[in-house]
Amino acid sequence: MRRGHTSEFALLTDVGRIRAHNEDACAADEAAGVYVVCDGMGGAAGGEIASHMAARVFLETARLAAAHQPAADWRLEQAVLTANRAVFDESHREPELRGMGTTLVSLLVEPAGARVWTANVGDSRCYRWRAGELQAMTDDHSFVDEQVRLGLMSAEEAVMSPLRNVITRAVGSHIDVAVDIHAHDAAPDDVYLLCSDGLTRELDDSEIAGVMSQGTDDLQACAHALIHLANEYGGSDNITVVLVRL
Ligand code: CA
Repeated sequence: MRRGHTSEFALLTDVGRIRAHNEDACAADEAAGVYVVCDGMGGAAGGEIASHMAARVFLETARLAAAHQPAADWRLEQAVLTANRAVFDESHREPELRGMGTTLVSLLVEPAGARVWTANVGDSRCYRWRAGELQAMTDDHSFVDEQVRLGLMSAEEAVMSPLRNVITRAVGSHIDVAVDIHAHDAAPDDVYLLCSDGLTRELDDSEIAGVMSQGTDDLQACAHALIHLANEYGGSDNITVVLVRL
């Protein structure tokens, strides 16, 4: 049944098979049509604090801004900048949190459901599943992806590179942050996937599509299947999956 802007969603996060802590965070506000995944980094408890703080502040700001009906891109940018400032300020209150940061990827669904917006910083991604095709909606802000986009490295070299973990933008690392924000035409029954790199390091796009082609009628089951396969393939990092059906 359609309660908000979307008909169904599922949030699932898993520590994986190697890490002792889960530094990913995910959150949703169905009434506001906003979904977010963050993947934190930093010493001590920094990664966990950064991802949870960014997801919470982002969602609170996006929700408050919604009441004033501003343009979606303005609303997303303000929400990311507010989250950035909150994490940055916190990292300067505690010496052991210095340098913490987080990725952020968000989906905002317009009330009529005719358009969606993505906002991202770092290497957490958004994909669209439509008519049996998986389409990447975001570009990673990572050293290797930027090298690939510049034609300086092949996609195969990027996957094998020792620098593949290096991200070039993060929420909270600096006093300001550049956010990629894009609008996309939406269609009924589109399914959007937000995920951390714990999924995309284990599964390539065709393997993600393979799981989704098994069925997206039950999004919770689909999210479990994606995380299960990522763990089967190593589970070397925390894995977070958010699925949203229009
Ligand atoms: Ca990660």
